[in-house]
Amino acid sequence: MPRPTLRRWVRFQPGITYFKPAGVRLSSMNETVLAFDEFEAVRLKDYENMDQIEAAKKMKISQPTFNRLLKEARKKIADAIVNGKAIRIEGGNYKMVQQPMQQGRGLGAGMGLGAGMGAGRGRMGGPLAAGPGGLCKCPKCGYEEPKLRGMPCAQKKCPKCGMPMARAQ
Ligand SMILES: [Zn+2]
Repeated sequence: MPRPTLRRWVRFQPGITYFKPAGVRLSSMNETVLAFDEFEAVRLKDYENMDQIEAAKKMKISQPTFNRLLKEARKKIADAIVNGKAIRIEGGNYKMVQQPMQQGRGLGAGMGLGAGMGAGRGRMGGPLAAGPGGLCKCPKCGYEEPKLRGMPCAQKKCPKCGMPMARAQ
């Protein structure tokens, strides 16, 4: 009975899957095929600087298997650089694992908080209150108050001198 080979976990989908040396005619160009699991081994070890044990765990394979995969990948990349070959990234015995999107959500929450703080300052009044609505200013005494959304400044009267207010920039 053939031993089932475990599929290696890959967490990264490269945006570019073809590397071509400049100045080489397509017809005379050789290419080397780097499998997705080999690519992932190089990415974890040489790009993310993980140690082999940690990287092997990420890919759900044993450390010796990871080591073999890494050596094979490095040899192919070296071969491409030394001999001017193109590199195509495709295939392999792998399972693409979706990246959790937690980081993106965290950023979104942070931006929401910032908007909330701005609104709070506006409620306190004073010159700092210029929110998205802007400011109304008394043309006579210079009294300022935040402009209310949907209410033109000219409809408000200055509480000090009773003059109609004007929009301030
Ligand atoms: Zn006034």
